[in-house]
Amino acid sequence: MTVNSKRKRSWAEPFKIKMVEPIKMTTAEERVEAMETARYNTFLLKSAEVYIDLLTDSGTSAMSDYQWAGLMLGDEAYAGSENFFRLESAVEKFYGYPYTIPTHQGRGAENILSKILIKPGDVVPGNMYFTTTRIHQELAGGAFEDVIIEEAHKPDNLHPFKGNIDLDKLADLVDRHGAERIPYISVEACVNMAGGQPFSLANLKEVRAFCDKHGILLILDATRAMENAWFIKEREPGYDDKSCAEILKEICDLTDGCTMSGKKDLLVNIGGFLCFRDIEYYRRACELVVVYEGLHTYGGLAGRDMEAMARGIEEAVEDEHLKARVGQVSYLGQKLKHSGIPIVEPLGGHAVYLDARKFLPHLKQDEFPAQALAAALYIDSGVRSMERGIVSAGRDKKTGSHRYPKLELVRLTIPRRVYTQAHMDVVAESVESCYENREGIKGLRMTYEPDNLRFFQAHFEPSAPFVLEGVGLDRSKRYSASRK
Ligand SMILES: *Cc1c(COP(=O)(O)O)cnc(C)c1O
Repeated sequence: MTVNSKRKRSWAEPFKIKMVEPIKMTTAEERVEAMETARYNTFLLKSAEVYIDLLTDSGTSAMSDYQWAGLMLGDEAYAGSENFFRLESAVEKFYGYPYTIPTHQGRGAENILSKILIKPGDVVPGNMYFTTTRIHQELAGGAFEDVIIEEAHKPDNLHPFKGNIDLDKLADLVDRHGAERIPYISVEACVNMAGGQPFSLANLKEVRAFCDKHGILLILDATRAMENAWFIKEREPGYDDKSCAEILKEICDLTDGCTMSGKKDLLVNIGGFLCFRDIEYYRRACELVVVYEGLHTYGGLAGRDMEAMARGIEEAVEDEHLKARVGQVSYLGQKLKHSGIPIVEPLGGHAVYLDARKFLPHLKQDEFPAQALAAALYIDSGVRSMERGIVSAGRDKKTGSHRYPKLELVRLTIPRRVYTQAHMDVVAESVESCYENREGIKGLRMTYEPDNLRFFQAHFEPSAPFVLEGVGLDRSKRYSASRK
């Protein structure tokens, strides 16, 4: 008997479903009402009003039976919980860092890191900003500077590693500010704001050499480092026969420490950590963690949560998991691409990003096209997405005017192990329907604006009523949404 290895073999989820959570479709009338009440901000919708929730992949994963079983083994001692040591050794085994401090989530780690390393007037280069990362750098008196390669700012550029750092930009930064003003370089895996785009190991090695030359630390935002490892395995020459676990270790070996949001890669609903190789930084972090999070052996987490995260590390690093995870994102992305929808390419690890500039060319950036598109998508089908454009970028701290990012995107973020391919089909059909109705999607005005991280809580109203044909299940109906 011969085996034909050229036959197509589809991926499938490496799990079966043991428990389900019912969801329910709403009527178009209910959704219009809900969006009005939420002031055209998908963060202000109630979860019960949502059919398929692609707001974020943060804390929205489905845990396994192994993780749920771990919850029952929570050791809720104030100090020295058994689960802390399980977490510490899982981090050391898979990420390779000797010192781990748990935090309630990623931004807890970012706060402590920024307070330890940044002095007022410092500059922190990074491969594109992330919202919470930058604000903690600024609150510590530093300024963020973007050193990502130019390709990252172009939604249709097919560079396989759009998360890479531009070494010339880095050198220029050192020339302008001096290495002593740069406490560390912040490198994010699967760059969220660029569309979930990975860096290559070749690039990270160059950055490491640059850091060694100038005496600068290299800190990894490891939030999606496992998904980044998958892309290295897929795309970088020389890595296809390595496991994601081996690649992850190689990534971390090049860095001096990391911040981590366990709510992404690690398949838990809450949790994060901060790691160092150097005991001095670890000691300083221990002094601060007791002020902001809790004792250094729980950092704001229950023992059971640390156990779930320790077990999540073991599961999330598996090649079969990552293949299905990234495979599902790619399934949705390919479908949209074939229908001619403008999306960011190459497809990233955790989300498909719609290019709102191309989708809604009749709107100017300060009419908040991505925000408007996210609202329209919800009204069409109850699918919740989020804006990653001018609203997320916020205002320049010095001039007070909007920052105008080159990318104006709507993020369809896929929670891990939660939805099926049939859900992805429904999402794709709704995006297609919005695309057909794009002329009817109008610009927005901002009516309330918080000072920090405004995208979470800002209010908007449409400058003219949205007109969406055949909204929802009743394809014959013409629906017009406007403020009452
Ligand atoms: C989510 C996220 C953070 C912040 O983590 P939280 O757990 O939400 O506090 C930091 N960096 C990146 C890249 C993220 O995606």
